[in-house]
Amino acid sequence: MVSDKVTWETCPACEGAVALGWVEHTVTEIDCAAGCELTDTHRESVRHSATPPA
Ligand SMILES: [Zn+2]
Repeated sequence: MVSDKVTWETCPACEGAVALGWVEHTVTEIDCAAGCELTDTHRESVRHSATPPA
């Protein structure tokens, strides 16, 4: 795990929880809690809607 912080957003595939790992204000990991295989399009949309950790 290289991320400093984790935030939670809505998974674009299943509308469950998706974990975002952050290093400073850059998303380094996106993992759906339900195990969805996220496409690049899904990852982009999560990244765009994500709020960086304080
Ligand atoms: Zn999902």
